[in-house]
Amino acid sequence: MIVDAHTHIYEHPLPKDKRPASAADLLREMDAAGVAMALVLPLPGRASNEFVYHECAKHPDRLAALYVPEFDEPSETFVKLRNFLEDHDCRGIKIHPRLQRVTVEDAVVHEITAWASERRLPLLFDCFPSGSDLDNPRFGPLAYHRLAQEIPTAQIVLAHAGGYKVLEAFMTAKANPNIILESSFTLGYFPGTSVERDLAFAFGHLYPGRTMYGSDFPEMPVADHLQRTRRVLESMSPDRAAAFYGQTAAQLYRLKV
Ligand SMILES: [Zn+2]
Repeated sequence: MIVDAHTHIYEHPLPKDKRPASAADLLREMDAAGVAMALVLPLPGRASNEFVYHECAKHPDRLAALYVPEFDEPSETFVKLRNFLEDHDCRGIKIHPRLQRVTVEDAVVHEITAWASERRLPLLFDCFPSGSDLDNPRFGPLAYHRLAQEIPTAQIVLAHAGGYKVLEAFMTAKANPNIILESSFTLGYFPGTSVERDLAFAFGHLYPGRTMYGSDFPEMPVADHLQRTRRVLESMSPDRAAAFYGQTAAQLYRLKV
């Protein structure tokens, strides 16, 4: 049973988006790759919470939605989040600090994390240092150490496993049992590099339940990314692999697979 814990569908694709990314496109690629279920993440500018939720609700046995807080009107962020999550069965919250111009040190992020932890809602953070904030340590994996320590009941997922800083993500996860690493995008971005070995080491050493598979469709094709990941992680033990490719995401996000 394979769960892809990180995908997108686009309501408003940008001109640079080359690949088709409707719910039907995602489902077709999942079928071809043998992926049972996928988590779908809204993306500011590309896909709203409403759109993603309603597209997923048409395929409840295959797709489940996360919620992305709206930070444009800071005074309304929390009210909107609470109202939406009271009426909609989203399986977690995703924050994209680089794109949304917030950091893990902002009070509002702390507040959302505490609120989510009380409701057993996992919190996923984009963690792929790049672009104009490359030198800002608040966007790297180590920045989540303090948050995980301060709110030990929070379930914190680091998306992309820290990118090229995968070993920092590994040490952060080692130090905090409430941090889970998710593998999307990174292996497709750094093919043939030392990142492959570092990620294989990290994911081969963390206990089952501490790592999850994801692709980041449509940025990465579902089948290609799965095949690449299987190749890089071929020496992973069977119990770790079963948890990594499906069980951990199913449990964390309450999926019926
Ligand atoms: Zn993504």
